[in-house]
Amino acid sequence: MKEVLTDFGVENALNVLGINEVNDGTSTGSNSFSNGEIIESYSPVDGQLIGKVKTTSKEDYEKVMQAATTAFKTWRTIPAPQRGEIVRQFGEKLREKKEALGILVSYEMGKSLQEGLGEVQEMIDICDFAVGLSRQLHGLTMHSERPGHRMYEQYHPLGVVGIISAFNFPVAVWAWNTALAWICGDVCVWKPSEKTPICGVACQNIAAEVFKANNLPEGISCLINGDYKVGEMMTKDTRVPLVSATGSTRMGKIVAQEVAARLGKSLLELGGNNAIIVTPDADIKMTVIGAVFGAVGTCGQRCTSTRRLIIHESVYDKVKEAVADAYKQLRIGNPLDENNHVGPLIDKDAVGMYQKALTQVVEEGGNIVVEGGVLIGEGYESGCYVKPAIAEAKPDYKIVQHETFAPVLYLLKYSGDVENAIEIQNNVAQGLSSAIMTNNLREAERFLSVQGSDCGIANVNIGTSGAEIGGAFGGEKETGGGRESGSDAWKIYMRRQTNTINYTTELPLAQGIKFDL
Ligand code: NAD
Repeated sequence: MKEVLTDFGVENALNVLGINEVNDGTSTGSNSFSNGEIIESYSPVDGQLIGKVKTTSKEDYEKVMQAATTAFKTWRTIPAPQRGEIVRQFGEKLREKKEALGILVSYEMGKSLQEGLGEVQEMIDICDFAVGLSRQLHGLTMHSERPGHRMYEQYHPLGVVGIISAFNFPVAVWAWNTALAWICGDVCVWKPSEKTPICGVACQNIAAEVFKANNLPEGISCLINGDYKVGEMMTKDTRVPLVSATGSTRMGKIVAQEVAARLGKSLLELGGNNAIIVTPDADIKMTVIGAVFGAVGTCGQRCTSTRRLIIHESVYDKVKEAVADAYKQLRIGNPLDENNHVGPLIDKDAVGMYQKALTQVVEEGGNIVVEGGVLIGEGYESGCYVKPAIAEAKPDYKIVQHETFAPVLYLLKYSGDVENAIEIQNNVAQGLSSAIMTNNLREAERFLSVQGSDCGIANVNIGTSGAEIGGAFGGEKETGGGRESGSDAWKIYMRRQTNTINYTTELPLAQGIKFDL
C-alpha cells in the first residue's frame, strides 16, 4: 500500500495501539475476555484483513456490568476535579498516540488521514474541555420562600452510561461521551460499530493504560463488541440509566422505544439530510468550497454531509457549473495518500446503496450533472471506491427526502424570497445541520430566526459539515433531539437534585399551609 502522508505505516500503528491478530472485544480495563463469535475487520482502503475481534457473549456482558456497577461506587466519590485530572492524562495519552490512532481510523473506516488525525484531535479537544468543566458542574441556588431556609440544586452522576456508536466517527463520538461522562462521575460501557471494531479495541487499550497507572478499579471504561444484539443488551438493561446512541434514524427509533419502555434516558444522534441555501448574494467561491467539501468529505459519510444545494434561480447555472467544475479536480484513491481528496465507502453494501440512489433519482425524473460510478482497477481492489456524483432534482423526490450515506449531491432550484428556500430545506424528516451562503444580512437573520432553519445546527457562510466541540452538537426531528459535546450538554450525564435545608427550630410548610397538631 502506498502511504505518502506518513512514514509511520499501518503495521507500526497497530503495534503502538496494542492490536493483535485476534483481539478480545470485551474489556473492563486491564482485564480483557470474550466468548462471543469473531468479527473480521477488512479495510475498505485495500480490502486487507486488519484483524479479528471476539464479540461479547451474554455471560461476558454480565461480567462487564458487574465491574461497571462496582466501579461506579468508587468513581462517584472521587472529587470531580480529580476525575478531570484522569481525563487530562487520557488526553495526553491521545496526544502521544495521535498519529497511530489517526492512521487506524483512516485505514479501518476509509476517511482521509487528515480527517482521521482530525478525529483524534477532536478527542483531545473534548478532553481539554472536560478538564475545565470538571471544576464547573454548577447548580443554581435560589431564595426559599420560608425564613431560615436555604435552597439549591446540585448534580450527581447517573451511573453506567451505555454508548452505541456508528462506523463513520469510530473514535470521536465515544470520546465526546466518555470525557464528559467521566468527569460527571459516571462509568461507561461502549459498543462500537461492528464495522470498525479495531478502533474500539485501540481506544479501550489507551484508556485502560491511564486507569491502571492511577490504580483505579476495573470497570470505569468498558468495551463490548458485536452487532445490534449486543447493543440491545444495554438498551433493555435497567442498570444502564442513559443510553447514548449514534447511528441511523432506523436504529434510533428502535433504541428510543426500548429505553423509554423502561423509562430510561436516551441521547440520540441520528441521520441528517443537510442543505446549503445559496442566495443571489452568495459568495460563489466560498459556496463552492463549502459545498464540495461538505458533499465529498469522508466520501459523503458524515452525519453533517451536504446532501442538498438549494440554489436561487438567478445564480443556479453559475453555481451548478462552478461546483461541477470543482468535481473534475477531485482525486479519488487511497485516503492515506494526501494527494487524494476522496477515499472509499465503508463497504460494498454502501456502494450498492449509492448505486441505487443514482438509479432512483433518474427514475424519479432527475438529471445527472456529474456522472457517478464504481471505480475498478489498480488501487481500487477493495471495490469500495466510487465517483462523487451530482444530480438535478426536485425537493419532493423520495430519494431527496432520504439520507443516502454516500457522495451524492442534489441540486434544487428555488425562486423568490429566502423563505421559499427555507421551506424546502425544512421540508424533510431530518433536522441536523443547515447553512446559508449570503452576504445579505436580512437573509442571514431570517434564516436564523424563529421562522428560519429548524435544524440543531444553522450556519452562515460556512458549510454544513463538521462542528466545533465547544457548541452543543445534535439535531431535531428524526435526527433524535440529543445534544453532545460542548455548552451544557454535560447535564444529560447527571441527575439533578433540589435541596432545601431548614436551619430554624420551626417547621413552616411551603405555600403558607398550616398543619397544627
Ligand atoms: P447504524 O444505525 O447501522 O449503526 C449504528 C450503531 O447502532 C452500531 O453500533 C449498531 O450495531 C447499533 N445498532 C443498530 N441497531 C441497533 C439496535 N436495534 N439496538 C442497539 N444497537 C443497534 O448506523 P451506521 O451505518 O453505523 O452509521 C451511519 C448513520 O449514523 C447515518 O445515518 C449517520 O447520519 C448517523 N450518524 C449520526 C451522527 C450524529 O451525530 N447525528 C453521527 C455519526 C453518524
